[in-house]
Amino acid sequence: MPRIGRFAPTPSGPLHFGSLVAALASYCQARSRQGGWLLRIEDVDTPRVVKGASDSILRDLENLGFEWDGRVSYQSDRLELYHEYLHQLLNQGHCYACECSRSSLRKEGVINGVLGQIYPGNCRRKDLSDAARSIRLNTNTCGTIAFQDQIYGHFEMNLAAEVGDFVLRRADQVYAYHLAVVVDDEIDGIDEVVRGADLLENSCLHIWLQNCVGFRTPQYMHIPLVNNTDGTKLSKQTGADPIKINKAGELLRDALLHLGQGPPPELASVSPREILSWAIDHWDSSQIPVQETRYSEEL
Ligand code: GLU
Repeated sequence: MPRIGRFAPTPSGPLHFGSLVAALASYCQARSRQGGWLLRIEDVDTPRVVKGASDSILRDLENLGFEWDGRVSYQSDRLELYHEYLHQLLNQGHCYACECSRSSLRKEGVINGVLGQIYPGNCRRKDLSDAARSIRLNTNTCGTIAFQDQIYGHFEMNLAAEVGDFVLRRADQVYAYHLAVVVDDEIDGIDEVVRGADLLENSCLHIWLQNCVGFRTPQYMHIPLVNNTDGTKLSKQTGADPIKINKAGELLRDALLHLGQGPPPELASVSPREILSWAIDHWDSSQIPVQETRYSEEL
């Protein structure tokens, strides 16, 4: 069945090899079944946005031969929509305003889970006004959230115990990624989310949010991360080098190798479009290795 997938980079720096692997996996997964593929720039977290990064990401994707459907969407154009859904959740009693700061919680002895401080719900019943405060989603009644990831298999988390009530809008009025991505995937009609495994746990938060707001849950496929040779995650935060676009063929071939697709060596010397067309024709997601791979940026 055709599906609609997407690639949704944060413009906090240029495209690096780790994000190229995620882009390629989502592209092949959608296109190999004649599905649509959309491009969304996740620029909702304005303090993280680096000037010029989104244009440079789009340019690199174009030079690597990627073809997306329709116009690129920008989260910064959708703030009213996020506002609308946040207020729906507030009116339905799923969300509440919170006056706790990270440091006050630390002083109180609140512990950290995999996604940061496990918020114990101090402000749930305070009925504070939402102006200049963060807004949290109540996880008290959600129990265990489970889903079947197409790479990692069954995955579950007890959100109340392991994450706590999480923020949908920060006190500085910036909408959280969790709210923006859930609204975007729904209104874009995304039925299969393919993204890096660093977001595996986050998908449980997204499923709970989808339940609260009344959206359907897409399929999930989390792609094992690409690490630096020292084992740390290849990311903008760890200073991953921008890709070298003059080596497009080698880069795409290397990305296919990381995805277990066994590209023939001669593939590196054909055009990026031809490499992508080979990748779509030969795409087999069951070959994606579950373990993380390492990458040395010597290209
Ligand atoms: N914006 C995220 C990133 O650049 C990806 C989010 C997603 O695919 O849901 O890592």
